[in-house]
Amino acid sequence: MCHALEQDPRFFTLLLQIDRELAALTQAGGCACSGRLHCADYPRKPRGVAAEWRAGFERRFSFCCSVCRKRTTAESVRFLGRRVYLALVVVLSSSRHAGSNSGAAAVRCAVAVPLRTLERWRSWWQEAFIATPLWRGAGGSFMPPLDAVGLPANLLERFVGDAVARLSGLLRWLGPLTVRAADLAAELTAEHAA
Ligand SMILES: [Zn+2]
Repeated sequence: MCHALEQDPRFFTLLLQIDRELAALTQAGGCACSGRLHCADYPRKPRGVAAEWRAGFERRFSFCCSVCRKRTTAESVRFLGRRVYLALVVVLSSSRHAGSNSGAAAVRCAVAVPLRTLERWRSWWQEAFIATPLWRGAGGSFMPPLDAVGLPANLLERFVGDAVARLSGLLRWLGPLTVRAADLAAELTAEHAA
């Protein structure tokens, strides 16, 4: 299913649609100072998206306040922080790399991610991710509890529905992480240097 999702234009369209909805909600919420939010998207050059779908993945939706100039970036299911690979590639490739169960074994990814990047992602899931407020809060509500060693394959299995519903559900659940730069900064520096 991984292979199919990474090549499925309907899945890319779905992710873009979800991000547009998240951006609209963010903009409607306005700035903390009550100022209006104007579009100030970040340009992106992501890896892991076929050339024909790239146009929908070249901008990260973000806003700038018309009054205080403070930036507000919408949560995203397309991008996991500032990583150069799409969020779906990070999750699916990491799941395959975890290789801890049948679900992960079934995953076959179309995007070739360098081994050292996969190793860095594994460290991120098992160390930085489990220290995030998201995991320490909502992550603790999964029953039975999830073993960090199996992340994120075991986490993906807890979302219900078909492959599209499970992956989009997990990406949506990870949303708070996509706007918390501090959680990702160290790992990103390494990734961009690679
Ligand atoms: Zn403001």
